[in-house]
Parts: sequence; structure tokens; C-alpha cells
Amino acid sequence: MARCLLFLVLVSQPAPAQDVPRVGRQLAHEILFITGKAPAPCDTGTEAEQISCLIAARYAKDPAAAKAATALYTASGTVMGVLPEQDFDGGYRGRLHLIPQLPVGAHRKHLEWAAFALTDFDSFFKDLGGTPNYRWRALDFRFFESVKRRTPSAYAVDWAVAYNVSGSLFGSEAGVRGTLFHEVFHLNDQGHGDWSRRALSPIYDRIVKKCGVDVKCLTPYTPDSIKVRGGTYYDFQPGNGVGEYAADIARRYYTEHRALLRKEKAVTPFKCGNPDNAKAWALVVEEFFGGVDLIPACAPR
Ligand SMILES: [Zn+2]
Repeated sequence: MARCLLFLVLVSQPAPAQDVPRVGRQLAHEILFITGKAPAPCDTGTEAEQISCLIAARYAKDPAAAKAATALYTASGTVMGVLPEQDFDGGYRGRLHLIPQLPVGAHRKHLEWAAFALTDFDSFFKDLGGTPNYRWRALDFRFFESVKRRTPSAYAVDWAVAYNVSGSLFGSEAGVRGTLFHEVFHLNDQGHGDWSRRALSPIYDRIVKKCGVDVKCLTPYTPDSIKVRGGTYYDFQPGNGVGEYAADIARRYYTEHRALLRKEKAVTPFKCGNPDNAKAWALVVEEFFGGVDLIPACAPR
């Protein structure tokens, strides 16, 4: 099953701490209306007020969607709109055609799930303590549909996330949260200068050399159980690369810690599977999550 595509493009350095990321008015207009004109001028007040006005204008036909989109913008600076129509090279999925789809009416639940997920990341990092070197706010967030297909469910590049309202992974609130954490990791990985390729390739390549695409051999190493239809684990599908492996280790960090903080049933810790898992986990925790690891130490092997 396909999940997302990571484009490796320009490498940028992390923003200095004093530069709080934000979506500016011009970008907000483009996210909401692409090249179209807004039905209201929205040109008075602060920039935040103007952007809130643009959001209200775009979602005017669905007041509940307008309320959710505005609340998310106010809380996290993320603006939710639509992806421009485009052809899309889906790699092993073939050629796809993507069209904009505003998340209103029957699609509103996706806006609400995505907004809930991004808000959940706020409380997650707050409860976790420490200082994560991780950005999940002020994103350029676009909804789309893939014509006659349910893939990709999402992709992420340049602090922008694209979300398929018919995505096969978006059937539940929990599915949306996990997938968005994974996508947001790709943005941070890119923001850290394609970190996973530099830091995790020695481990990843060693596993691939040992196992190839053999599911049984890969099972102890995969941070996520999702498989490509007719293929192997998504994280070890040839062509997907170390970035997917890294994003799913980050997702495991989120799901394991969230369960711990909420006193929910825990899964077997990824880091306790074998020494390669432990090393990869430690590197991700150190680079992105301020070294905070509340998962109990593993029993001696
Ligand atoms: Zn991915």
C-alpha cells in the first residue's frame, strides 16, 4: 500500500530559533484560492486578521469547516486550502492526476481530523517536556483528490503537506494522526539537510543488504507493518529509501510516547527489537526530539 512520496529537493538549514515560522498573507491567499480572486478584500487589520478573513471567505459555504480551519490557524499558524490541479509522477504507482478538493461537506471530516492531529502534536510535545528540534506549526496544508485512485494518501515537501481526501490511509482519526506525524517528519528531515540519508543510511543499508525484500527477515527491523500491495514492507520497498524508514521510526516515537503519556496499552518498544533498532532510535531521538526518551530501558538480551 502506498503512503506518500518524499521529494528530495533543495536542502535548507533549520531556521534560527528567533525566527518563528509563519504563513504570510500572500501564501495564505494562494493556499486558499490558488490563482483565483478572494470574494472579500480582507485587507484591513493585522496580517493574522486578514488571513482569518480569507479563511472565512473560502469556507463560507460550510460554517463548521470555516470554524475548524480558523481555529487551527489561530492555534498553530497552519493554513488549510487546496492543491493546484497537476499531473503527478507516482513512481511505482504510475502517472497520477491530482485535482483540488476543498474539505467541506462530506469531506469536512478530513479537515477536522487533520486539524485535530496537528493540535494533538502541540499537546504531545508539551506533555513530553524537553525541547524538540521539530516543527509542526505554520504549515502550508493542501487538500486534493487523485483521479480514479486512492494514492498517494499524502506527500510533504518544503513545509507543505498535501492530503488526499480519498486517501487509503485516512479512514480514521488515528490513521490521520499517525500518517501526518510521518509526513511532518519528512519536512523536518528535509529541514535538517536530508538528515536521514546521512545519519541512518549505514544502518538501513546494512539491513537491506542482509534481507533484501524478504518480509520474514525484515520483520524485526521494520518500524511499521504497512506493506506495499504485492511487495514488501513500505519502509523497505526498493525506491522508497531511508527517509521512509526514518519517518516511521519518528512515528513510532510518537505512538509509543503518546500511549505511555496517556497510560494506554503499549506496543513492544521498537528500540528493544535488536541493536540496529536501538541505534537508529537513539539517533532520531537525539536529532529531533531533544534527547527525550521516556520509553523504559530494554531488558538485558
Ligand atoms: Zn513517507
